[in-house]
This record gives sequence, structure tokens and C-alpha cells, in this order.
Amino acid sequence: MSLSLADILAAARTIRDLAVRTPLVPSPHLARLAGHDFLVKLENTQPIGAFKLRGAANAILNLPADVGGVTCCSTGNHGRGVAYAARARGMKAVICMSALVPQAKIDGIRALGAEVRIVGRSQDDALAESRRIAEEDGLVEISPFDDPLVIAGQGTIGLELMQDRPDLDMVLVPLSGGGLAAGVALAVKTIQPSVRVIGVSMDRGAAMDASIRAGRPVEVEEVASLADSLGGGIGLDNRLSFPLCRDLLDDVVLVTEDEIYRALQTLFYEDRMVAEGACVVGIAALQAGKLPVPKGPIATIITGRNVDMTVFHRIMAGQDVSLGDLTLKGQAYGA
Ligand SMILES: *Cc1c(COP(=O)(O)O)cnc(C)c1O
Repeated sequence: MSLSLADILAAARTIRDLAVRTPLVPSPHLARLAGHDFLVKLENTQPIGAFKLRGAANAILNLPADVGGVTCCSTGNHGRGVAYAARARGMKAVICMSALVPQAKIDGIRALGAEVRIVGRSQDDALAESRRIAEEDGLVEISPFDDPLVIAGQGTIGLELMQDRPDLDMVLVPLSGGGLAAGVALAVKTIQPSVRVIGVSMDRGAAMDASIRAGRPVEVEEVASLADSLGGGIGLDNRLSFPLCRDLLDDVVLVTEDEIYRALQTLFYEDRMVAEGACVVGIAALQAGKLPVPKGPIATIITGRNVDMTVFHRIMAGQDVSLGDLTLKGQAYGA
């Protein structure tokens, strides 16, 4: 199966009425640090508070009208996108998630009228349940990242980036299952091959990074992270997002939990924005000096805002945060 820019252009037309075309705004503070314009694309302004609506809407709007409903596994935001798009089409939706998913995300999905099932301690458990339900109840399973329509939907972000700033040198993409990075890289590099597309993940449990290094999809242990939306595997039977990320990404950079903590403070105190840990990994990489030397404008994607507010408040107050087996030492911003 091959995907092309034509699929992404088709997705842009399909999702026009459900997802919004998001703004790309400058961050003067980060530009000073980078030595070039630094732009943030505000996917936190989507109606579900995250970019995942794009892929979910493209997949669901392409289904025939007579399907019995849809199901998926999710770390939270894909489930919210599927629930939103299914409701718009009057379809039933069953969302399977593991016990690692924050309560705020579960509540958001229930509020959209979808059925939520909490199963096991990992994304693999949630995926197995969603496949079982699809089989037994005749629902269509929608992968969060390994689906051509989902990847094409996420790719519309790359299209908008190039329409708004054709002079970009580098795009920093938060990376988990790789649907976002695959779609964005495909759009950006088809339009302008010289743009460097860098995937960024947390350094604990980065399944796509481990898989690219191994040359095939591998499993990693799933651990708690401030970037909870980046958790979970890529699927040992991955067909699409793995080869696309392997072939199209120029590099994958990993950041620590402490670096994510500080980047969340930067985005809030300098740019007055509330975001999830997953969104700021690109900013964390810049602040930690882990990026290749920029030769021109840089953009990153603020992928979502569905953060646990208790944790967010603690970080903004410079307090300690406990993450499973790890306690992050608090630090006031600028200290
Ligand atoms: C899903 C998600 C990502 C990563 O997207 P993938 O396609 O799985 O790589 C990044 N940020 C947020 C907020 C997400 O929900």
C-alpha cells in the first residue's frame, strides 16, 4: 500500500467541516534561543483539544453509512477524536484504554457519548480488547496510527505548515506510533524535500525509536511519563507508520522527563499556553541543545491540551511530581 500527497489533499477536503485549520504562531522567546523564527502550530485549538481529530475524522467520514459502529484503542486523544467524529455521523463508538490513561481524558470521551472500556496496564492490552470487540460485535477498528486514512488526515498538518511557511528549515514532530510524523513528513517532503523532519519522543519507552534502531517493529516496556500521549507500542505487525517514519524522518531525538517538565514551564510562562507533556518534546529538545544546528525557521506542533490539571498546577508551581517509580524533583521556572 502506498500513500501520496494526493491522499493528504483528499483528506483536507474530507475533514474540512469537522476539524479546524489551526494557526501557526511565533514564539519570540524560543526564536531567541534558536537564532531563527520558531513557530508553534496550535492543534490544541481543535474542537477535541488535540490533532487526532484529523485522522479519526478522515477514517470515519470515509466509512460506508451502514457499518454498525467503530472501536479503537487509545492513550486518550485518538479515542476522543473517534468519539467526536462518530457522534457527528450518528455512529456508535467503543473506546478501549489502559489504566495508565489520565482520568481527564476518560471523562472527555464519555462526555462525547462514547462507551469507554478500561482494560489492563498497557496499550497492547487495550488494542487486544478493541480487536476482540471489532470481531465479536461487528464494529470497524480504527488504528490510532497504522491506517492510511488516519495518516493522511494527520498529514494535513504538514500541508498547512508548508502553505503558511514555505521557508521552513526544520519541523519537530512529537513521535509515538508515528501516524502524525509519517503524515507530516510525507506532506512536507513531497512539497519541499529540503525540509528536515525530526521526530521527538521521551527517553523512556520510545517504541518507534527502538524499532527504527532495530530495523523492525519491537516492543518496549511502557512506563509512566509526563508525555503520556506518547506511550505505547507501534504494533509488531505495523504495516505503514513504521516504514514511513524509518524512510522519511531525518532523525529521532529523545528527551528526559526533567526536560519535558521545564519545557512545559517555558511554554506556559513565556507563551502563556497550556499544553500536554507530549506537545513540548520539541521545545525540550531545543532547550537541551539536542537538535541539529538550525539553518532557518523551525516549527513544532502543539499536539494537544488535554492535560491532567492537578499535575499541570504542580509543575507550574515548581513542585515535585511522581511518575510511577520516578519522582521528578520540582524546580521553579527560571530558577
Ligand atoms: C497521539 C499523540 C501524539 C503522537 O502521535 P502518533 O501519531 O502516535 O505518533 C502526540 N501528541 C499528542 C497530544 C497525541 O495525542
